[in-house]
Amino acid sequence: MVTKIVFAIVNLISVLVLNGCILRIHHYQFNFVKILRRLMMAAAMTVISNSMIALSGGMIFAEVSYILFYVSMDWVSFYLWSFCLKYTDHNNLFNKLHRLVALLLFADSISLILNLVFKHEFSVYTALDNEGTLYYLARATSLYNSHLILDYIVIGAGVIFVISKMIKSHSYYRFRYAIVLTVFGLLIVLNYMYIILNMYLDWSVLLYAIAGATLYFMTIIYTPGRLRNRMMSHAVDDMDEGLILFDIDGNCAYYNEFVKRNFADELDRVIAGDHSASSYDRLIEVSRTDVSQAVIYYENNVGSNFRIRLEPLIDAKEHNLGSFFLIEDITEETRMMNELKEAREAADKASEYKSTFLANMSHEIRTPINAVLGMNEMILRECEDKDILSYAENIKASGGALLDLINDILDFSKIEAGKMELIDNEYGPKNMIKDTYMMLRRRATDKGLRFGIKFDEEIPAVLLGDEKRIRQVLSNILSNAIKYTKEGSVNTVIRFERIDDDNISLVMEISDTGIGISEENQKVLFDSFQRVDMEHNRNIEGTGLGLAITKQIVEMMQGSITVTSEVGKGSNFTVSIPQRVLDNKPSGKLGASTAEMKEKYKVTFTAPDAKILVVDDVELNIMVVTGLLKNTKVMIDSATKGMEAYEMCKNIKYDLILMDHMMPYPDGVETFRMIREEGLNKDTKVVVLTANAISGVEEEYRAIGFDGYLSKPVKGADLEGMLEQFLPKELVIMEE
Ligand code: ADP
Repeated sequence: MVTKIVFAIVNLISVLVLNGCILRIHHYQFNFVKILRRLMMAAAMTVISNSMIALSGGMIFAEVSYILFYVSMDWVSFYLWSFCLKYTDHNNLFNKLHRLVALLLFADSISLILNLVFKHEFSVYTALDNEGTLYYLARATSLYNSHLILDYIVIGAGVIFVISKMIKSHSYYRFRYAIVLTVFGLLIVLNYMYIILNMYLDWSVLLYAIAGATLYFMTIIYTPGRLRNRMMSHAVDDMDEGLILFDIDGNCAYYNEFVKRNFADELDRVIAGDHSASSYDRLIEVSRTDVSQAVIYYENNVGSNFRIRLEPLIDAKEHNLGSFFLIEDITEETRMMNELKEAREAADKASEYKSTFLANMSHEIRTPINAVLGMNEMILRECEDKDILSYAENIKASGGALLDLINDILDFSKIEAGKMELIDNEYGPKNMIKDTYMMLRRRATDKGLRFGIKFDEEIPAVLLGDEKRIRQVLSNILSNAIKYTKEGSVNTVIRFERIDDDNISLVMEISDTGIGISEENQKVLFDSFQRVDMEHNRNIEGTGLGLAITKQIVEMMQGSITVTSEVGKGSNFTVSIPQRVLDNKPSGKLGASTAEMKEKYKVTFTAPDAKILVVDDVELNIMVVTGLLKNTKVMIDSATKGMEAYEMCKNIKYDLILMDHMMPYPDGVETFRMIREEGLNKDTKVVVLTANAISGVEEEYRAIGFDGYLSKPVKGADLEGMLEQFLPKELVIMEE
């Protein structure tokens, strides 16, 4: 009885072990896993029925248990065969045969079950000993023997596939197949011994658990260490990166194929540790002394580029094993980077050329316009004929428009090149607004538009900011409003919002009753070169740059610009620009339109005793200046070359010099320097009069030492203003 209980417990442990394996292999994806699980289930069933035989308490129970045992054995055989085929990748053969084999074993199982009735396979006998009643198989028929033979054939057929696979496979794998075969072999031998020895307890099934666990381990978990090393070194050799391993003394322990391929000539040096001065060797030096990470870039002798990283090799217990180089081929990357760099340089060059071109163009265009507008101004001053005066007014307006255009393009290219700078100065917002408003008033009233302005008197009187740019913003928006309004009015509200004691937001709201802008167009309004609603605006001239520049300027000042508009009703632009307050005193009323442009020119002063020098390589420009200053009666000398001016300054003391910049050598700046260095005309003010009008140049000229700056085309009033400012006071006689 004790033996039986021990036997049953051992069998139970076997079943549990098998069950453990079944649960674990569940996660794996190999194609034989499903079969292996079923094999283990059938094996577990065999073990259970084996226990039932031992514990059976009656003839019928014993016979049923034996039948269950042999039927389970049939299916162990079937799944073992299936496993062998699938494990050795004979899927096709398996698909072809498995139904036939299953059918044979199924027939055998039925025959075994029918033994209950016909007793044609085996009989169960009872015997008595001191342990109680024992049931065992005493007589085996030929059918029973054929059942055994069928099982052995099926298992044997499977085993042959494993043997053939073992012969064909790489030697590293043979060990694994050998173990699998040993397990199968042992099972068969033990089973056979049980039959020969006619034991009443089949201890061989105990091995099922060991066999199951061994199968699980050998087929799924185990990879031979040598195999893993071999695989790793092959994988490392096939890598697209180089690997060199060094031991702690810096001796080369391993390098892969990549290194061999790419450093053929340098290889010996690396391994031998020949320390010449190359950076590659320096890295090796580092590897011997300091294993903290380092990176170098290296070009081999056929021009390939590599990024070499040195890293320490430290194991899990923080022991230093050595170091390694990881080498990446960055030839392609380097080539692309170089191309990008070249492309960028080319683009920068092109942009530089563009800027120079624009500066030159501006200069070239301004020079003839200077003559056109200068001469035109003389017509306006001297002509009494109404028709001719109106022609001259048109020339003046168109010339002005052309100048605006050039200024816009220049500003835009400045912004694009990131070279637009703000120059903050103190200024009175009242005068700035009034001037801008007055400048445009004529244009609006000529079109028959009402042109109103509301100015908040409380706006602080003195602010710090870039007055010129704010003026530009306001005049851009105002001139658009006038341009795109046929009838009705253009109204401006200038107010402010306090941010704190020292800062305000200057708010300018410009509304018109013009054509309006659709919502869709409002989105692209501030994009460069974007002119909207071309169907209606075809006849209105413009470049689509004005608002783009305006927005950029406003944003540079940390301000904002918004638009609301309704097609057919009009538009409303609101600009808000933060400004520092320098004097909080209120600005006061804008005042009546006293500053309205003079209808007819009148000279502001005369200075018959003053003598000035005008230097310009273009005679026409000298004529313009001379003409514009005619009424002031100043004496004018002129020079068309820098050298000539320099010589003249040696002999004559002038009261003011007007100097062009762009001239053949020596140019205006060089001439100015020569005059100053020689100490000629020491106290005489020098004003640069130039077509170079790119924003910011005025400051550059002042930095060189010029006292004043006038851009061409020069306006008569500005020229007179400059003279009035710089001529010695005693020589100037103001006119009433
Ligand atoms: P443009 O040189 O064409 O005037 P802008 O950048 O100043 O360029 O303006 C872009 C476009 O916005 C204009 O072409 C015009 O269609 C539209 N626009 C600007 N201001 C107004 C306005 N006050 N009323 C209607 N349309 C306007």
